[in-house]
Amino acid sequence: MDSSRILLSMMALARQGELAHHDGPQSLDSVVSRPVLKRLISALNFRDAATLQHSRRVALLSVGMAQQLGWDGRHLRVLEVAGLLHDIGKIGVPDNILLKPGKLSAEEAELMSLHSNIGADVLQACRLDKEVIQIVLDSHSYYDAHIDESRRTGADIHLGARILAVADAYDSLTHDQVFRTGKVHDEAMDILHGDAGTKFDGNVVAALDRWVEKEGMSYVKNEGHAADDVESSAPQNIEASMEAGSLCHIFSYLYVLESLYDGFYVLDSDLRFTVWSSGAENLLGRLCSQMLGRSWTSRLLSYSDNTGKRLSDQECPIHEVMESSRPACRTVNVQQRGGSWLEVEVQCVPLIDYQGTLQGVAEIFRDVSRSKRNAPQFRELKLAASRDALTGVANRGELEKHLKRMVHEYSQGDTDTFSVLFLDIDHFKSINDTHGHGVGDRVLISVARLMQSELYSGELVARYGGEEFVVLCPSTDLDAAMRKAERIRSTLAETAIEDSVRLKVTASLGVSQVDDKDTMESLLHRADTALYNAKESGRNRICKLLPKDCVEAKPVEPSLVKSNGSSYTFESEFTTCMVASMGVYKVSGFVNELEADLIEANEGRVVMQVGQPGFFSGWGNRENRRPVNIVMTFGEPENQSAKAASRRVLVTVTVTPVGTPPSADAFEQRAKRVFELSRCYFAAD
Ligand code: GH3
Ligand code: MG
Ligand code: MG
Repeated sequence: MDSSRILLSMMALARQGELAHHDGPQSLDSVVSRPVLKRLISALNFRDAATLQHSRRVALLSVGMAQQLGWDGRHLRVLEVAGLLHDIGKIGVPDNILLKPGKLSAEEAELMSLHSNIGADVLQACRLDKEVIQIVLDSHSYYDAHIDESRRTGADIHLGARILAVADAYDSLTHDQVFRTGKVHDEAMDILHGDAGTKFDGNVVAALDRWVEKEGMSYVKNEGHAADDVESSAPQNIEASMEAGSLCHIFSYLYVLESLYDGFYVLDSDLRFTVWSSGAENLLGRLCSQMLGRSWTSRLLSYSDNTGKRLSDQECPIHEVMESSRPACRTVNVQQRGGSWLEVEVQCVPLIDYQGTLQGVAEIFRDVSRSKRNAPQFRELKLAASRDALTGVANRGELEKHLKRMVHEYSQGDTDTFSVLFLDIDHFKSINDTHGHGVGDRVLISVARLMQSELYSGELVARYGGEEFVVLCPSTDLDAAMRKAERIRSTLAETAIEDSVRLKVTASLGVSQVDDKDTMESLLHRADTALYNAKESGRNRICKLLPKDCVEAKPVEPSLVKSNGSSYTFESEFTTCMVASMGVYKVSGFVNELEADLIEANEGRVVMQVGQPGFFSGWGNRENRRPVNIVMTFGEPENQSAKAASRRVLVTVTVTPVGTPPSADAFEQRAKRVFELSRCYFAAD
């Protein structure tokens, strides 16, 4: 790709951006040059009309909300332009990602997320009002935030960005996405209200309510299609199409710069900073708002050679390039904000037009110490280490890393409460058996994507193993987590997941919220036990579990299996919180679920038989039907205080085989399973 030619056309855009800039502080022209705005919108239409439609609606909604919050005049103009252009960087994202019919893989999503940097680069080049750029960047860092330390919240974020984030989410929720049809207004508002205070600013969500009530009803009912009409901004003739196409080239080039290098900046012919990329912000610790418009000097940006000697203006790569009019590549040290030096490889490119006039210079950096990390192959490797290869969501290692940190921070009082969802696909084995493993794999991929698109921000989705997924929901209490789980469950149940065979699948979910005494293991175990309860109580449902509901079982010792001549006995016990009379009630549910024959039932003791002996195959060949007798007795644990508010009950379970098991192992396996089942049943809500 010819860098200098493309950067030159970006400089032309910058000059056009400057022309009509001073036309009274209230007017649109003081925010953006109209011809440039028109070109950008036309290019977005040319590239992806759906994104333009979305952007127009977001602009309209944002302005509506801001008015409710008392905004007027220029501030509204700024916000409207930010709404219109917030996704402009998507122009640079390659087709295979931008226009992919399904949801994106993790790698693709990461590349897609570069769009906000690309957008900021172009908006800078077009000399847009700095506040517009700030709002666009903030709205993405807020709304796209995943669980990481750099996440900023609340008042750090420009209010305009918080408004834009709500408008963006509302519009995404109410319009068809890959895996869900658009939700109706009330449903979307429920979700936004549910996330108010954590992901979204509650005042802003309330402003959306007020706007809809006062004047937005026709919009909500979809009567006014004004925002959807983008025909008029389409390129109207061949020249306009070519112009839109060339603008798209600039964006594509920026995509390459953003994905392969650590940062870059562009100077105009007066050596003033015209673009200062997000990468440069991170690498050198200076914000674009501090750099744009200032003149380059070696004091503002200091370089030194490999001996540590500072370079004078004349010795810097920029001057070398301006003298020779030829690109150069050098390894130098550049000074970061705090004063430390960083070794970088600099590509310096002169921007010379057809008449031979120097229009500017670009410097593109690669951090030498990190360059390996940033090589595309290395990025792929790094992703592979944290991602599940089949579904692209986080893998178990990655999940455990995050979860450990969250549990630790919670125990230190450093973070808000959070919850965990454990999801397991129902009867997945039969999907494999009926349709083959290929279809099974595709179902796993689809379920992972559906979960991601249903949760749509903030949470971490991980594949725990096989057909089990775990979701970490930061700043989410048990009730909110139950609602999220229900959203996933119902959407999944309603969605035809695999077109070719019109397959529908369901899943069961277990939900649990972190507790002071939790370790990563205990929290996951509780969510897993809740999941188990959901399975046992019929599947396609959700169970939650609080720490106090958790039964404490003594570890099941193999020695508890006693062989007495030709017969075996398994015995174990657990304690659970319940009133004594609940014992028999809980058992009756257990009896129904297992289709057991009740042989004896009174206050302190229940006897039942489950399973059926096989006709020909001795003890039965289906694991879960192998016949056993179960005796449960309810008593008092040893050290129970007399005043305990909710009394603990000690449940002793004795299992004996009906008929002759083929081996002690086979019996033990079956008996343990029955024991675990009974234990979970008593822990259920
Ligand atoms: P339940 O409702 O009790 O969860 O029943 P189930 O059939 O979903 O559960 P079970 O644990 O018996 O079976 C899980 C199956 O998942 C067994 C295994 O073959 C299948 N499986 C695990 N990993 C993969 C995978 O990567 N691809 C495919 N196609 N199948 C997988
Ligand atoms: Mg499973
Ligand atoms: Mg399953």
